[in-house]
Amino acid sequence: MVEGPQRQIGYAPGTMIKALLLLLSAGKLGKVFLTGGTMLLSVFAYALIYGWWYAVGFVLLIFVHEMGHYLAARQRGLNVGAPTFIPFVGAWVELKNMPHDVETEAYIGIAGPFVGTLGALVCYFLARNYDSNLLLALSYAGFFLNLFNLIPLSPFDGGRITAIVSPRMWIAGVPILIGLFFIMPSPMLILVGLLAAPQVLKAWHYDPNAPENAAYYGVPTRTKVEYAFYYLLLLGFLAIMANDVHEMLRTIHAVKGGSTI
Ligand SMILES: [Zn+2]
Repeated sequence: MVEGPQRQIGYAPGTMIKALLLLLSAGKLGKVFLTGGTMLLSVFAYALIYGWWYAVGFVLLIFVHEMGHYLAARQRGLNVGAPTFIPFVGAWVELKNMPHDVETEAYIGIAGPFVGTLGALVCYFLARNYDSNLLLALSYAGFFLNLFNLIPLSPFDGGRITAIVSPRMWIAGVPILIGLFFIMPSPMLILVGLLAAPQVLKAWHYDPNAPENAAYYGVPTRTKVEYAFYYLLLLGFLAIMANDVHEMLRTIHAVKGGSTI
């Protein structure tokens, strides 16, 4: 899926400084260092394998996704930590107050993939406009990253979104995760499986009539249907885009005389 940089893209230093000042003016210097430091670390790690420009773009795409969660949590009045990056695992924002109901959790959950998809789309249109294979490869990474996060299993965003329908939805994520492991066996998926196991157990024993569950998961059917609709819409759109862009990259690769991916 990775194409070598075909064209160098210039980031105006003025924009970077402005963005930095904007973050600083938020008054959270510690947050800036945490996010900036761990982001840089991730860029270094990815650059060793994929090259600098790809690494910068990839980490920025993850950052855009995380900002979706961050802004949604702030919008709902929750105290939220700055995005923290871990190379080859991804990033997360820590919620310092837990959502009081499943609708808030689903809202924060879907905001990441939604804003992340917008980021990947911007990348895609820039790639088409400037005929850049690097940006096209990055847009593919963006679509795939956000699609992957929609797996209906906690700790993925998909788990948080589908919980609004019922936590039992997480059981559907188990065969998906096992299937993925057969396609791309990676230690990351084993880690995810271990993290997800207690959640699946919770879903298995889920009793909608227990008072604590009724309080947290009790939302009108209309709201459930709305979230299910947006979830499926995003899932379908990302699956189409990831597939189409993958095909485009294959063609480019074949034309260049390389073997097919
Ligand atoms: Zn996310």
